[in-house]
Amino acid sequence: MDTINGRTECELLIVGAGPAGLTAAIYAARAGLKPVVLAGAAPGGQAIESPEIENYPGVGRTDGYTLAARMLSSATEFGAEIVYETALKISLAEKRVTTESGEYFYKYLILATGASHRKLGIDGEEKYIGKGVGYCATCDGGFYRGKDVAVVGGGDSALTEALYLSKIAKSVTLVHRRNEYRASVSLVNRVLSEPKIKRITGVITALSGEEKLCGIEVATLPSGIQNITVDALFVAIGGIPNTELVKDQLELDKNGYVVTNASMQTSVPGVYAAGDVRNTPLRQIVTACADGAVAASALTE
Ligand code: NAP
Repeated sequence: MDTINGRTECELLIVGAGPAGLTAAIYAARAGLKPVVLAGAAPGGQAIESPEIENYPGVGRTDGYTLAARMLSSATEFGAEIVYETALKISLAEKRVTTESGEYFYKYLILATGASHRKLGIDGEEKYIGKGVGYCATCDGGFYRGKDVAVVGGGDSALTEALYLSKIAKSVTLVHRRNEYRASVSLVNRVLSEPKIKRITGVITALSGEEKLCGIEVATLPSGIQNITVDALFVAIGGIPNTELVKDQLELDKNGYVVTNASMQTSVPGVYAAGDVRNTPLRQIVTACADGAVAASALTE
């Protein structure tokens, strides 16, 4: 990587160091491209928040942090340059990415910026963040050992978090807006057989507490409003694509995800997208890795 006066020229710049970005880095480095990865404050992406992963082939049961750490060491072993800077501005027309400490000019760009946690959008949510409301049970669940907690959502994230919390909390209330879960059957079966997890069908309508969260109000059918005393609420209701920096510069689908072809190429030549940020039917670690591999291979063909 050659940097002169804060200006770095690179053949391949990868923005994002989750499974998609790190796998793209591994494939590109092995192909001799000397990729530079902008990893933000820490690599791993949302994967590091997953307390338990059992469907990434070949590694048995593991956790997201361990898996991401292994991907990072593979990428650096093969010669990828990991830079702990955050992209603040991206100009696809000028092939330039600006960070807090300089400018990166690239020939090829892979966007692997992932998705962020969707918020419930109800009154008090912002106020209680860090004071009872959280978006990552692995990160913050330890603060609620022996306490009553709730999780909202019905996908893999919510059920994984509920199972994780059931090992440390006194009780876990899983609130989902309908009576069918979209999570995998194996997770649903584990939740159904975990006595510490109480399941409620309903919508959270209010949060209560003085300085800290101490309760949630849930509108349920058919029983009406239920007030549940909890010390924490973990919100696990899916993601929003991190496309803010490029949204007016390439094609996005109606939900804001980057449109790509089968080679992960976006509507802008030389710009690829991989992982949760792109419009894909499945957002898993394994599919993010596959996207990264395809993108890196496509640009080395
Ligand atoms: P998701 O699959 O999109 O599920 C989001 C859940 O939140 C859905 O059940 C949805 O309800 C609910 N929801 C959405 N907006 C809501 C709102 N405003 N209020 C209340 N509930 C709301 O998201 P995810 O669970 O984060 O998973 C994202 C991707 O990562 C998925 O592809 C998942 O398979 C993958 N993932 C995999 C693992 C693993 O393999 N271990 C772990 C975590 C995530 P409806 O069902 O009614 O739409």
